[in-house]
Amino acid sequence: MTPPPKRSASDFVFGKVIGEGSFSTVYLAKDIHTSKEFAIKVLEKRHIIREKKMEYVSREKKVLQILSPCASHFVRLYCTFQDPERLYFVLTYAKNGELLPHLNKNGSFTIECTKYYTAELVLALEVLNSKGIIHRDLKPENILFDENWHILITDFGSAKILSSNEDRNEDENNKRRKNSFVGTAQYVSPELLKDTEAVFASDLWALGCIIYQMVSGLPPFRAGSEYLIFQKILKLEYEFPEGFDQTAKDLVEKLLVLSPSKRLGATDSQPYTSIRQHEFFSDIDWDNIGPPPRII
Ligand code: ATP
Repeated sequence: MTPPPKRSASDFVFGKVIGEGSFSTVYLAKDIHTSKEFAIKVLEKRHIIREKKMEYVSREKKVLQILSPCASHFVRLYCTFQDPERLYFVLTYAKNGELLPHLNKNGSFTIECTKYYTAELVLALEVLNSKGIIHRDLKPENILFDENWHILITDFGSAKILSSNEDRNEDENNKRRKNSFVGTAQYVSPELLKDTEAVFASDLWALGCIIYQMVSGLPPFRAGSEYLIFQKILKLEYEFPEGFDQTAKDLVEKLLVLSPSKRLGATDSQPYTSIRQHEFFSDIDWDNIGPPPRII
């Protein structure tokens, strides 16, 4: 049940700390009226201002508000409130945590599992595209699992919202401060490392990296420093380990393409039909992808 607006911290019983970010602490909390569990992200205003992260926080809120009505594969923002010191975001509690530790624990995912979660990611990216949102920092740490093991994409602080006034202002800023890197080294697309702007296909690059990682256990571009990782990305320098599933390999190769417009799906008139039609998904029913397979 959705809590009515104008809640405050006293409407929740705060429990354990689920996680900590650079600017936030996330608590498990229970709505005292409904007993429903939520993840509440608490941000110290002083810290946000000191670190000049106001834009980051307001962008995250704005994207979550855009996505919340179509909440299927995204963490939903139920409400926000504040007190003199803190901001509070009341979010869906992703009970099964981040994808990354599950992947690390298992070493890699089965092809069945990889296919299922790639399909959920494609459905989520279709929604983002339809809303004019580029995530720009898609990675296994930002993909959470709900209680039924469906994905919930989170962390929209680096996202770009197209065709809004805010975005136009941001574009102006970007023109002034070129080469400002957003995202995470291993999953950042080549265009974000150059002077070019992020496009929807920047998230398709990250998708290629994540598929590679689900199949093999490690991201495709690895090196001892961010600088060396960037060099590898710009040269498309990566290899497939022996035994890498052939159809998954073909899909990854079609996504990890230096030119964003040449990535599979990038020029689809109906995004992402051409990804849906790839052989990797031949046994996926896109109208009903069914329940998730067990993660083993
Ligand atoms: P940073 O801000 O440094 O990039 P972050 O984006 O991970 O870090 P938060 O969004 O505050 O920071 O999340 C902190 C931790 O809490 C993360 O490890 C994340 O897995 C966990 N977490 C965040 N949101 C939820 C949620 N809705 N349900 C369950 N766990 C969550």
